[in-house]
Amino acid sequence: MNKASRRQAERLAEKREREVFRRRYPTYQAYLKSEHWQSRRRVMLKLADNKCRKCGSAENLHVHHKNYERVGRETAADLEVLCERCHKTEHWEWV
Ligand SMILES: [Zn+2]
Ligand SMILES: [Zn+2]
Repeated sequence: MNKASRRQAERLAEKREREVFRRRYPTYQAYLKSEHWQSRRRVMLKLADNKCRKCGSAENLHVHHKNYERVGRETAADLEVLCERCHKTEHWEWV
């Protein structure tokens, strides 16, 4: 297989993966309730030592998506552990 057609095959596979994901989790909220996300979340909290990355608080921790490019197959770099207060601040910056 040459380079161009391999890229095309990769893009197709990615597209199919996104479609499967959409069918399984029609909304972002549905995804947040999934077992997949819950276990991803637990791993992130453990990696962060159950502390907010900004202020160090251990109360009301959330796992924030820094971007939504890889929702469903997030890497540690796409996520950030924040307490509820810091999480709100993070989202206010975007509105
Ligand atoms: Zn915080
Ligand atoms: Zn967030």
